[in-house]
Amino acid sequence: MKAHDGMYIDGAWRPAASGETIGVVNPVDEQVIDRVPAGTAADIDTAVRAARAALPGWAATSPAERAARLGALRDVLAARKDEIAETVTAELGSPLAFSQAVHASVPIAVAGSYAELAATHAFEEKVGNSTVYQEPIGVVGAITPWNYPLHQIVAKVAPALAAGCTVVLKPAEDTPLTAQLFAEAVDEAGIPAGVFNLVTGLGPVAGQALAEHPGVDLVSFTGSTAVGRQIGATAGAAIKKVALELGGKSANVILPSADLAKAVNVGVANVMSNSGQTCSAWTRMLVHRDQYDEAVQLAATAAAKYGDRIGPVVNAKQRARVRSYIEKGVEEGARLVAGGPEHPSPQGYFIAPTVFADVTPDMTIAQEEIFGPVLSVLRYDDEDDAARIANGTVYGLAGAVWAGDEAEAVAFARRLETGQVDINGGRFNPRAPFGGYKQSGVGRELGAHGLSEYLQTKSLQF
Ligand code: NAP
Ligand code: MG
Repeated sequence: MKAHDGMYIDGAWRPAASGETIGVVNPVDEQVIDRVPAGTAADIDTAVRAARAALPGWAATSPAERAARLGALRDVLAARKDEIAETVTAELGSPLAFSQAVHASVPIAVAGSYAELAATHAFEEKVGNSTVYQEPIGVVGAITPWNYPLHQIVAKVAPALAAGCTVVLKPAEDTPLTAQLFAEAVDEAGIPAGVFNLVTGLGPVAGQALAEHPGVDLVSFTGSTAVGRQIGATAGAAIKKVALELGGKSANVILPSADLAKAVNVGVANVMSNSGQTCSAWTRMLVHRDQYDEAVQLAATAAAKYGDRIGPVVNAKQRARVRSYIEKGVEEGARLVAGGPEHPSPQGYFIAPTVFADVTPDMTIAQEEIFGPVLSVLRYDDEDDAARIANGTVYGLAGAVWAGDEAEAVAFARRLETGQVDINGGRFNPRAPFGGYKQSGVGRELGAHGLSEYLQTKSLQF
């Protein structure tokens, strides 16, 4: 059997119990490029049993052995970097250069960070007359979205394996080919059978069966608030640990002392990259009223320059959703200064890079996650007003602050109810904890904090 005709369960590729398949579509030309098995509850059950059977052996390996396997996984991903980038481009539609620079590279860095953390983490410590052991939480059910297909997988699977957990992954139906590539890499890295298992399939079928399976100890989910709420409720009823990463509506706050042109240009790039399908994107730009007109002008020019350099959004449903938000923005009285709801291309799920001015904090486009290349520029009167607007949504995932003086930016960043803030364009750090305040989620991914999610403690008193 070709790898791509199967699901990776217990170290082997096998067909779905149902024999059904799902088509994979290229968002650039809307053509079906491949088919993958449509897993159901029966396949999830087989995979969870394999993960349970493999758990005692994997949990008992030394951290050094797990580090070595993760290091090998990192190396396989690095060796297959071009193939990863091409696969992500084929099923997500992102431009190849972006797939190479971000979709393929970031997961390699994250896998490498967990190879190191597995080797160096203190899984045992003395506290007074006790020894505290950090033990793997057990079988992990990982459910991932399509927006950063490989990153979302590695951000869950690498720390889970480093902790000594075993995993069943249900990736997004739109990007299963990247998940299959990852499973091949796991196999090549010599990770034992059953430690990592892949079941492709639909969310409400395979995903739900995984979230509800009594053999799963922790469900780690990234995706929409609606599904996250349901998964949290299911886990709560079963007294099961859950990690939820649910997106955001982050603010890019430009203080009057900042380099305005730089802040606006980086801010526009942040929103347009990956066609706006980034949960931590700074989709609300907050500008002081005295600089507002100039900032709007700069943002419109920057967005127009992107033109067709951004890829499409992932599927027809997302395009319809993003377009309806753009129409809603116009209806509610915001002013379009770039882009708009019209199709920029006869084929593919493209949306023009769009910028709205005169957006007020209560408008739908200033409150809800659009998940497309749409930026809202809002006006503030003073710092208190800016903080109130920035904190005035149900979300709190990320954000940015720009100021002439770093200390001024830091002081303002400390007022933000959010999990991550980039200061004057600070770079992404794959070891910094990533996760949300408020309804942006529960738990943290990446780095040592991400590892802790997959560990539980046992104290022995002497
Ligand atoms: P979604 O439905 O929440 O998808 C996320 C994952 O959950 C996918 O693997 C999905 O499978 C699965 N899933 C769906 N229904 C499920 C259920 N009942 N039980 C268990 N798993 C289930 O998100 P989406 O429909 O792809 O995107 C909708 C919106 O979610 C976006 O517009 C955006 O606002 C938000 N989103 C946020 C992030 C983020 O990074 N925080 C990422 C993606 C989307 P299927 O692929 O088969 O649906
Ligand atoms: Mg869905």
